[in-house]
Amino acid sequence: MKNAEGDEVLIPEGKSKVWNYHPNLPVPNSPVFRFPTRILFVLNWFRRGWLGLSATTLWVTLAFVTYNWFQPSLEHWSIYAIGMMFLRNLALITIIAGGLHLWLWVMCRQGDQLKFDSREMMRDNGTFTFRNQVLDNMFWSIAWGVPIWTLYEVIYFRAVDTGLAPTFQFGDNPVWFILFFWVILLWKGFHFYWVHRFLHWPPYYRIAHAVHHRNLNTGPWSGLSMHPLETLPYLSSLLIHLVVPSNPVHLLFHTYALTLNPALAHSGFDALLVRDKRQLELGEFFHQLHHRYFECNYGTPEMPWDKWFATYHNGTEEDTRSTRERKKRMYTK
Ligand SMILES: [Zn+2]
Ligand SMILES: [Zn+2]
Repeated sequence: MKNAEGDEVLIPEGKSKVWNYHPNLPVPNSPVFRFPTRILFVLNWFRRGWLGLSATTLWVTLAFVTYNWFQPSLEHWSIYAIGMMFLRNLALITIIAGGLHLWLWVMCRQGDQLKFDSREMMRDNGTFTFRNQVLDNMFWSIAWGVPIWTLYEVIYFRAVDTGLAPTFQFGDNPVWFILFFWVILLWKGFHFYWVHRFLHWPPYYRIAHAVHHRNLNTGPWSGLSMHPLETLPYLSSLLIHLVVPSNPVHLLFHTYALTLNPALAHSGFDALLVRDKRQLELGEFFHQLHHRYFECNYGTPEMPWDKWFATYHNGTEEDTRSTRERKKRMYTK
């Protein structure tokens, strides 16, 4: 049996000793970078991501909506405009992360179906701020994540509205305008892989990234729950728009892929079920493995950086063993 990316399935989806649910293993990587090219699998990958309801099409739509109706001008410095942008972003994370948390973890609308880890969110645990995982995650997301996210948007829109940032319109080059959304995901994957490897350098890990890794088991609010010294380099991926010509809609899409998408990717569930049907793909089991085993899967499935640099965990016990050895080597150096 082959998975949707054309790789041989080693272990079919289901329950295991360590997971309440895992998808087909090995966890998928984009088939675009597999040679020789398997065109049908590549087309299918783009169809699933870019046509119909998916996280990607959600962020593209939201970027258009924000830009057309909820983006004030920053041609002149305005505390009011910046405040509105902050409140807008706070509302977005509350709706997406808060909504998913309510649906999946509080109302338990799909019970344990497609839930990766059977554990509940931690309470009365001294690892977390306020001894509570959800409050900890909300605190770090709202106190640092949303302000730093807003800061990057303010820098960008100030540059656009004063004519400093290079921009282009759909009419200038329609093909590139569309293609650029995908290029952003590739750039984001590349940037995230290397920033994330740096974040795992033990001295920096202890200062910054350890806050995010308190979450062995993740929920929607864990996505943006980071120390500010992590959020700053993590979101610096956006600075590319100050150099490479793009459209404000591209910037907003890129922002949501970095700030809102993690709420889905960390939700702890493989997909959103409505009347037992998969309506929206959510969790990245790929990243769930990173939270459980640490020194693996630093990137995203959009580009196989982990495969190329031998840090890939495909979800099998064999890869768990090799990841544990790598971790031991890193910390005994
Ligand atoms: Zn994470
Ligand atoms: Zn990490």
